[in-house]
This record gives sequence, C-alpha cells and structure tokens, in this order.
Amino acid sequence: MAWKRKNWIATILSIGARQLGWYLHLALPLSNFNFSKMQELNVLLSKFRLVDSVGDHLTWAASPIDSYSIADAVKILVQSSKIEAPMWPKVIWGNIVPSKIMVFHWLAIKNSIPVKDVLAKRKILPSNVSTLCVWCMVEVETIEHLLLHCKWSSCIWADLFRWWNIRWIMPRSIIEFSFDWYYGMGIKASKFWKMIGPATIWAIWTARNDVIFNGKLACRSNVVRNTKLKVFLWASNLKLVHGLQAYVWEQNPFLLCI
Ligand SMILES: [Zn+2]
Repeated sequence: MAWKRKNWIATILSIGARQLGWYLHLALPLSNFNFSKMQELNVLLSKFRLVDSVGDHLTWAASPIDSYSIADAVKILVQSSKIEAPMWPKVIWGNIVPSKIMVFHWLAIKNSIPVKDVLAKRKILPSNVSTLCVWCMVEVETIEHLLLHCKWSSCIWADLFRWWNIRWIMPRSIIEFSFDWYYGMGIKASKFWKMIGPATIWAIWTARNDVIFNGKLACRSNVVRNTKLKVFLWASNLKLVHGLQAYVWEQNPFLLCI
C-alpha cells in the first residue's frame, strides 16, 4: 500500500516546530475500511515520541517487560474481538433484506459458503474434482474470488456502480467489503444502497449454482436487472418507495432516495 516498500523513517517523518508529522505516501486511495485503520494508525503514531539519547530496538508493547508472550497476545486478541463484535449486528443484521440473504452474508464472512475451495479444504470435494472457478476457469473458487473478484462477477459490480454513478475499489476480503458497503453511501441513499450489496452477492451465488447444478449459464445483464428489481420489490413491501415505479428506480436509484 505504501508508495515505496522500503522507506526510511527519515523520509516519512517530518519534525515540525511542535509536533511530528508522518507522510506515508500511499500508492492507492484508501477504502473506507482501510481509512478507519489508517486513522487508528495516525492516533497511535501521534503518541509516539522520539528520544535522541535512546537507540532503536524492537519492543512488544503489550507486555510490561517489553518481551513477547503468548498470554499477552491472547489478551490483545480477546480485547480486540470485544471491541469489534458489537459492530457486526449492525453491518449484517441491521440490513432490511430478507433474512435468508442476511444469513448468506453472515456465512460468507464466516468462510462457510460451500464454494469449491472451502469444500476441498474440508475434504468434502473429491481430490480429482477441479477447484477452479466455474466462470473464469483460471482462479481457485474461493468465496472472495467468486463473489467479488472474478471477471464474471466484476462485470456485474461494474454495472451496478455505473448505475449509482460512483467509483468503487473492490476490497480484498468479504469483511472489508461488508464494512465498506455499509458505510459507503450518504444517509438518504443508504437504506437502498445497503440492500444492493448483499442482494448482489446472493444473486452471484445463485447464478453460480445454476451453472453447476442446472447447466444454465446466466446472462450478466439479467442478473443485474433481477437484482435491481428484487431490491425494489423488497423496498416496496416495506413501503419505502412512496408510489414510484420500478422503471424510475432502474433509471436512477437516487430518485427513490429523495
Ligand atoms: Zn473466476
């Protein structure tokens, strides 16, 4: 992520009159998930003080005696999971999509969707069966590849981003995707936007199953259109569309958000 892999502290540190500044020169724009991590890093760095009289050495900050121990590492992991756990109900279960789609989203985060890679690692898929993605036949079918990064899926995402008229950098993991999606749109649009993400990963999954179990290759533009219409139907059932027609939503999603 950094502009140069090997940077000297002297090149990224600026010592002002009163405080230190860190110029990390990132090569890529930050996703929302990474942006919050970068803010945490900045807070951490702002507490750092350079002392001329002390030489550099590695230190394990979790321990009072500066040396690594498994017990301290476990303590850190337990504390961090306590901090992040309360956010999950909001990101996954706070959505207004049907419950089966929330459950699917949750299982994807827990690496429990039965894609070929998961089945092979659990010794369920026979070793002579290919683990390659059914669409590109190049990459291993992992959850992230199938739902987010495969060329086939990427075209669907690209269509949806054009529809919302936004530029989006697809995060690496499904966890980052979930956070970025949840916090990735303004308040007015957020209810509808939040439904689109989980609805799309579900649509990609069912299209993949259609190929494998029914031999039916879905047309990408149909997948996109059906996803838009399904979300409109869910919003309509929740009385969120205020008399607007589906074609208005298809033309410009923001018109529904006014
Ligand atoms: Zn693929």
